[in-house]
Amino acid sequence: MCHLGSTLSNDELLKEEPETVFKRLFWQENVQHFEPAPARFQCTCSREKVSGMLKMLGREEVDSVIAERGHVEVHCEFCNQRYEFDPVDVEQLFVSKGISQGVSPAPD
Ligand SMILES: [Zn+2]
Repeated sequence: MCHLGSTLSNDELLKEEPETVFKRLFWQENVQHFEPAPARFQCTCSREKVSGMLKMLGREEVDSVIAERGHVEVHCEFCNQRYEFDPVDVEQLFVSKGISQGVSPAPD
């Protein structure tokens, strides 16, 4: 690679299209060009995921944070997004879970 590259003159590098330079250097090879894919930061966090995480922590744990601070605040370390859950949010979190597990009739 370096040896082949050293055969290029500065003129060639400056004036020729990259494709032309590649073809000259690697005329024996089947050179493939890939469309440049822009790198993008995308965080997959969501309020739903944070809710799930709080449910996994358990009611006691979440309630103790509520008692201490008045609300639960979850801060995503990746995208800096903040999710706040007040006592009502927390109540709904665990109440909806209770309904699906407790009150629904058992299947036959
Ligand atoms: Zn995030």
